[in-house]
Amino acid sequence: MAQNGKFNGALKSSIICITRRKKLFGIICFIAAIIIAVILVESITLERLNIDGNAVSTDANIAGSKTNIPSASEQNDLVKIAEEAQGGSGKICYLTFDDGPTENITVDVLETLDKYNVKATFFMVGRMIDENRELARRVYDEGHLIANHSYYHDYKALYASSDSFFNEIDKTFNSIREVTGEEPFKLIRFPGGSYNYGDHAKVKQQYKALLKQKGYYYADWNCLDGDGESGNHTAAQLLKRIKSTAKSDNVVVLMHDGCIGKTTAKILPSIIEYFQEQGYEFRRLDEIPYYSD
Ligand SMILES: [Zn+2]
Repeated sequence: MAQNGKFNGALKSSIICITRRKKLFGIICFIAAIIIAVILVESITLERLNIDGNAVSTDANIAGSKTNIPSASEQNDLVKIAEEAQGGSGKICYLTFDDGPTENITVDVLETLDKYNVKATFFMVGRMIDENRELARRVYDEGHLIANHSYYHDYKALYASSDSFFNEIDKTFNSIREVTGEEPFKLIRFPGGSYNYGDHAKVKQQYKALLKQKGYYYADWNCLDGDGESGNHTAAQLLKRIKSTAKSDNVVVLMHDGCIGKTTAKILPSIIEYFQEQGYEFRRLDEIPYYSD
């Protein structure tokens, strides 16, 4: 009996011990679950803040941290900077779309870019932003860069004086700021390009210097599909023009999503596939992988 009693006592205490261990194990599991939950919530919140606060993808963050683009006050020709870039895989394609946003074309362009997971740069006209705010916001939300292409895109009024030029630039930056809720990347494209020939060539060179003083980059292009020259170009003609002008390892491609016909939007998958086949990767113009010595 006494032995039985001892045995029962030992059994009881071992059961109590097991129960305590189970309790302890339960408490440890509970605390661990709380810690994991807190870490998860914090990381999701941080990620959201990152997207909402900076409006750039994780990739863009990584690219940004590696990039050392010269300050615009030293060098503000962004195509030249892109051509001098030595980072990345070696071949980079910067797709750019001018004169939008328009319901008619920009929506199709966005759908194709999304399908191929390609980020691009949209040089928007301020007036078009103000008429299509939701669409401009969608461009931003889908991870593309919005840059400045004047407010009215009327060459004569825009290039009449430095005051009229900078008034339009400022007005468009305000529209971009209102749509995105953040300070815009200081990048413009001159309507008609900044080249030193043709109408307004002289004043454009003066404005380039003023832009540099004010810390603005500008970007022309070194490749195009020619859709801005005629709304009647066929798909084959546009694609041929892309292939014949894509000479650089760093191509800045001019296309349009303004009121100019839908052929570019239709052949955009072929354009993207062509550059992919040639070994290019795609980036926005604020993601130039530039490394200084
Ligand atoms: Zn334009």
